[in-house]
Amino acid sequence: MRVVYWGVLAAVFSTAAAAGHGAAPTAARTSSMADTALKVDNPFAHPSTLPYELPPFDRIRDTDYLPAYHAGMHEQLKEVERIAHNPQPPTFDNTIVALERAGQLLRRVDAVFGRLNACNTNPQMQEIDTEMAPKLTAQEDAIHLNPALWARVEALYGKRASLHLDPESQQLLSRYHTEFVRAGARLSRADQTRLRAMNTEISSLMTRFKHNLLKATADGAVVVDDVRELDGLSEGQIGAAAQAAAARGLAGKWLIALQNTTNQPLLAQLQNRALRERLYGASIGRARGGATDNTAVIAQLVLLRAERAALLGYANHAAYQLEDESAGNPAAVRDMIAQVAPAALARARTEAAEIQKLIDQQSAASGSPSFALQPWDWSFYSQQVRKARYDFDQARVAPYFELDHVLKDGVFYSAHQLYGLTFKERRDLPVYQADVRVFEVFDADGAPLALFLGDYFARDNKQGGAWMAAYVGQSKLLQHKPVVANHLNIPKPQPGQPVLLSFDEVTTMFHEFGHALHGMLSSVRYPKLAGTAVPRDFVEYPSQYNEMWAREPQVVAHYARHYQSGEPMPPELLEKVLAAQKFNQGYATTEYLAAALLDQAWHQISAAQAPAAADVPAFEAAALKESGLDYAPVPPRYHSTFFSHIFDSGYSAGYYAYLWSEVLARDTGQWFHTHGGLTRANGDALRTQVLSRGRTEDPQVLFRNFYGRAPEIAPLLEYRGLSSGT
Ligand SMILES: [Zn+2]
Repeated sequence: MRVVYWGVLAAVFSTAAAAGHGAAPTAARTSSMADTALKVDNPFAHPSTLPYELPPFDRIRDTDYLPAYHAGMHEQLKEVERIAHNPQPPTFDNTIVALERAGQLLRRVDAVFGRLNACNTNPQMQEIDTEMAPKLTAQEDAIHLNPALWARVEALYGKRASLHLDPESQQLLSRYHTEFVRAGARLSRADQTRLRAMNTEISSLMTRFKHNLLKATADGAVVVDDVRELDGLSEGQIGAAAQAAAARGLAGKWLIALQNTTNQPLLAQLQNRALRERLYGASIGRARGGATDNTAVIAQLVLLRAERAALLGYANHAAYQLEDESAGNPAAVRDMIAQVAPAALARARTEAAEIQKLIDQQSAASGSPSFALQPWDWSFYSQQVRKARYDFDQARVAPYFELDHVLKDGVFYSAHQLYGLTFKERRDLPVYQADVRVFEVFDADGAPLALFLGDYFARDNKQGGAWMAAYVGQSKLLQHKPVVANHLNIPKPQPGQPVLLSFDEVTTMFHEFGHALHGMLSSVRYPKLAGTAVPRDFVEYPSQYNEMWAREPQVVAHYARHYQSGEPMPPELLEKVLAAQKFNQGYATTEYLAAALLDQAWHQISAAQAPAAADVPAFEAAALKESGLDYAPVPPRYHSTFFSHIFDSGYSAGYYAYLWSEVLARDTGQWFHTHGGLTRANGDALRTQVLSRGRTEDPQVLFRNFYGRAPEIAPLLEYRGLSSGT
């Protein structure tokens, strides 16, 4: 449940950064840097003429990306040079605002390529990604480490009090200054050269991690020869597994694809214990050894991150990263986790004891020897404990959670009640994949607000998990209205079958739409401060807050209708589904915290402490042991070799951010409940103070302005059923 950040302000190609790195693969030679004039028929050459500047997906070919990238980088470089060497003395407009306007072509191509490479990739695009990632990093460095430009930014920042800027402009100037400093603008020329080389290499390693993982996840799919092994799955799931196998040329067999987390959803259903163990083994064995090995990538990556932090004057990478977050420093993260960890682990042990009891009872009843609960057993038995305690099972609930109902009568409905938004499906606009749906979003007064793309189904060429991405970011300066998308991985049913969801998937839809609202309701002037461009430990606040509406009785009653009869879910069943949400939170919270602490461990080391590739598994084991959350039946939500958040996207030293944000989200949930719940007045209050504001103000101030006080942790513990007495 990530957010894909806007790339940088993106700048110049830098020969200095590329030099000596051998990072330019073959593709680079086919598109010479000198050849930067873009053909007029390249779809990125001009702003899209489609509504909301929706990218013309139907006209984009893989061969369009590299020429557009190179022309875009060249153009941005020229623009930045003009700004840096402007003979006029620096002003806010001729420097900062000019930078905000620069690089439009590069933004256009990068927005499309970066997003599609995540959700609809192919080998050719991955080659482009491998080529471009280090070059884009070098381009950023070329801007941030441009001495003439830095001199102008520093001069403006130095006299900011006398510039009489409005608050948003002050914030923008301050962000630029911070970003330049953090990017190394104050280092010596020699250190800057080292820094550029490190950045380029880090960027290449992250790309390699991502490609290894995508392939390892696809290759790790479990092939089943005998359908009897699949006992416990529904007919539809078995059919889908047969179809997945056939699609890979394995007709007559069945294929279980891997999801991105350690735990795999089908472990809850598979009765065959040996197959459960095999599926679990495939999950945790991903990208560990073999052709897609990520251990060497990790070893090199954490070493370089530690060296870079030291060069920039920080104790470690976590200290560097956290300085620019709400948390501020590693100690604050440790404190927050320490407030939750003991209750989570204690609850997990209680849950495990209940499961063990059930295993023992069932073994005794069948006359077979009992066994100790293992990670691959947890979901299977926990599901049964849940069923016994709450007296319902997934099969009875699923017909009430049909995707279209959930989307229109739940997700959109709550946004209508809260913010007055309305949605109209646009079938006339081009998409990149036939399953993708486009909705035009209108504000309460009927004014056009945004385009929303829903890309819900799993594909082999899509990264795992769920995330929101912006194809066009909101900006009054550039007169851009937002185009945002939600990307999920819901297994696609066989043709003609309804898309029936689990309540977890329903919650994910609301979560990702919370990010989408943050993007669509953004109402700011400068692109750098728009929408989800907030710290990572704040960005999950609007999304986790929005999850609350998935379980609000008034909203559930509206969307949870039987897909055939249209009957609402029986109230007693609904009550059970909602009550069951606090179930298994010991496991869920512990697996999350273990991963969060693993992330901190990887990023709180000095270069001297970085392990060799062969010692990566041992480092991980030691880190988990030291975390106090090393509890065998509850493995971390991600093991290092497939921990995509921290090794190939923007969450390094930042996986704790979900819990940090969740404190704000649950506190906000409580605020809604004490103020009358799902009303326009409440929605508009949050919209005005938080959702429309992007990063135009310190996020902690935004929260305080909305709530009238600092956040408190009690509602989170209550929501997860972890407070004492629940
Ligand atoms: Zn999220």
